Amino acid sequence: KIIDPAPAEIAERLRDSIGSTYLVLSGKGGVGKSTFTSQLAWALSDSEKPEAVLAANPDMEAETTVAVLDVDICGPSQPRMLGCEGEQVHQSQSGWSPVYVSDTLCVMSVGFMLPRNDEAVIWRGPRKNGLIKQFLRDVAWGPQDFLLVDTPPGTSDEHLSLLTYLKQAGIDGAIVLTTPQDVACQDVRRILTFCRKVGVPIVGIVENMSTFVCPSCHQSSVIFPPTSGGGAALAAEFGVPLLGQIPLDPRIGKACDFGHSFLEEHPESPAAEAYRSIVAKI
Ligand code: ADP
Repeated sequence: KIIDPAPAEIAERLRDSIGSTYLVLSGKGGVGKSTFTSQLAWALSDSEKPEAVLAANPDMEAETTVAVLDVDICGPSQPRMLGCEGEQVHQSQSGWSPVYVSDTLCVMSVGFMLPRNDEAVIWRGPRKNGLIKQFLRDVAWGPQDFLLVDTPPGTSDEHLSLLTYLKQAGIDGAIVLTTPQDVACQDVRRILTFCRKVGVPIVGIVENMSTFVCPSCHQSSVIFPPTSGGGAALAAEFGVPLLGQIPLDPRIGKACDFGHSFLEEHPESPAAEAYRSIVAKI
């Protein structure tokens, strides 16, 4: 029997430098997985560690450090969303160095490896799996409180290998994104079942684009009416927490297009409040 050394090497790498590792998953594309990952990363990296943790560890830095790993090989969007498109990745003795976007936030993405922004990555399964493995094993993150992994949508081969590796490396769990629409929830059901099968803990469900708050009259409207209860019903069905409901706010997309933190630009908005409450739960 051939034993793959990668899971043990990945486990060692993550154990040495990362506090908590979360996968961000979605059943289908377009529900806002990458947007959520980037804005959650900004939000976490702007937060301070809980007072109880600091009191128990007086030598610990108060700032939270966050790393983002973008393994959405067919559509890597983190470099753009985190404002570091076109950066180069450097190789050091200890591995690939991530790109720093602030003192407390860094990112590694397949997007940095591509010659041009619009270059399509058409790779077959084994090559994709090889790169994912290499990313997990060879990035020299340095000490980070959180690692957020932005994954491709669906339940493909890449997921299976990614989840299997991360499960063996002892990741903390998956955060699963959906919109309230039944068609999105259907696909999320598949993802949740998939996590259960592989044995990856589910941290909770985030419902994105739950409502739309009109910028002029501040009235809240439901854009994608759920006929069977949306994220809340799904969370109840699988016995997992509903981590939050993020409203649809066009300024979120704009912030991502410019590589900015939405929370910093619009801290008083209902969407920023939703992100802060999710940060408090993870
Ligand atoms: P995915 O990674 O799931 O394919 P993206 O993060 O690329 O999805 O988001 C798809 C589109 O939806 C983007 O145009 C993004 O700006 C927009 N979007 C995502 N979440 C929100 C939100 N809460 N409010 C407004 N627009 C959003």
